[in-house]
Amino acid sequence: MTQTITVIGGGLAGSEAAWQLAQNNIQVKLYEMRPVNPTGAHLSGDLAELVCSNSLGSNLPDRASGVLKNELRVLNSMLLECAEVTALPAGAALAVDREAFAKLVTEKINSHPNIEVIREEVKEIPNTPVIVASGPLTSDSLSKSIAKLSGEEHLFFFDAIAPIVHAESINMEIAFRASRYDKGEQDEGDYINCPFTKEQYYEFVNALKQAERIELRAFEDAIRSGIKAGQFFEGCLPIEIIAERGEDSLAFGPMRPIGLRDPKTNKRPYAVVQLRQDNLAASLYNMVGFQTNLKFPEQRKVLRMIPGLENAEFERYGQMHRNTFIASPKLLRPTLQHITRDDLFFAGQITGVEGYMGNIATGLLAGINAANFFCIEKNLITLPQETMLGALCHYVTHADLKDFQPMKANFGILPELHLDKKLVSVNVGRCMRKERIKN
Ligand SMILES: Cc1cc2nc3c(=O)[nH]c(=O)nc-3n(C[C@H](O)[C@H](O)[C@H](O)COP(=O)(O)OP(=O)(O)OC[C@H]3O[C@@H](n4cnc5c(N)ncnc54)[C@H](O)[C@@H]3O)c2cc1C
Repeated sequence: MTQTITVIGGGLAGSEAAWQLAQNNIQVKLYEMRPVNPTGAHLSGDLAELVCSNSLGSNLPDRASGVLKNELRVLNSMLLECAEVTALPAGAALAVDREAFAKLVTEKINSHPNIEVIREEVKEIPNTPVIVASGPLTSDSLSKSIAKLSGEEHLFFFDAIAPIVHAESINMEIAFRASRYDKGEQDEGDYINCPFTKEQYYEFVNALKQAERIELRAFEDAIRSGIKAGQFFEGCLPIEIIAERGEDSLAFGPMRPIGLRDPKTNKRPYAVVQLRQDNLAASLYNMVGFQTNLKFPEQRKVLRMIPGLENAEFERYGQMHRNTFIASPKLLRPTLQHITRDDLFFAGQITGVEGYMGNIATGLLAGINAANFFCIEKNLITLPQETMLGALCHYVTHADLKDFQPMKANFGILPELHLDKKLVSVNVGRCMRKERIKN
């Protein structure tokens, strides 16, 4: 008998989950509501569209995101493979041409004989085997169905996206190309940097603080959600909120100038806005860490105060969006199964795992586990907490529900190392020495 499973959502997690299931000879019905029902953040009908930054984080093996990528390479992640094929120069990060990436994933999914893609909104969680991977912008009807299953503990916070600039409108007489500490792939540097003097920086911060924002209340009304609201995600704060926290916050945050020298002055600028290539044609650039919720005409005015962007033309302005996730510590097992239903899995941002790579990773695990669910032995996998993916799944299923916030891959969620009587390398300044750790 053929075994069939429904996957709701053809985003990062859903596409990876569908692929893993299909590779394990399970028939997949993959429901994606776009382009018929748009989300407000996605621009196309393609599967696995990246909604904001085109960076999937660090590729370095000693960074948390790099560790997660290496785990996904071992586990044959299809989406990571597509990201590597469509990669763009971005220093030590893995950034992609967002359009080429989504098109490649869509092509692969569409041509898999075990996957049927259905362009329809799912309004209720079905009673048959299913993976819910409907993401942070889950449709209203499905949100309600999930809330029914999850009780009051269905959460959301606000998240913001960064603007995108047309390359030809950037003034390269002022802006310069460089990667921090010259750690880039291209000789001339992977990023375009807009340098500020001290005066220009404070003038910009003042304008930013005074600029008009889209009213959060109007936004709340617009999404007509009855669910607990009002939180920002600390890892993705709008620049105007960072500026409010202190005049220098931006200069120590997304506008930090460390590792950069302006070739015209041969000095480190007081602050910098970095722009990262967004497509293969290099015609679009993403403003790194510049999420904002200012009104669009205000964005045009204030962002044009950035040196080098006096005449900037914007392909997309920054926006703010709802970000939905369930109370996983109460509702999910580390296998990503619901506590009350063995054949109901959740994957992606809706579990409370944050970041593109984490979402792909939970899609992969949910896909493998859902495929295993159909085996007679039902040998579902709980990954060791010493792995980054295992640690993420452990975190979202065991965190304290009181302050449960989405979590990215990071070393803080790994269990403590047992160093007793082991030789470890201790980095003392630039000199490495071996030391025996005593009790
Ligand atoms: C505005 C915004 C900006 C973000 N920016 C970043 C960033 O820069 N970097 C980063 O690492 N992470 C970012 N994230 C967080 C997160 O990594 C991404 O949202 C990621 O795409 C989540 O993956 P996912 O698979 O869980 O959801 P998605 O990729 O959003 O996929 C879910 C899919 O489900 C579909 N869907 C929803 N409801 C239904 C339904 N009822 N029936 C059928 N289909 C449905 C949607 O159309 C969508 O295609 C951002 C999130 C948001 C909301």
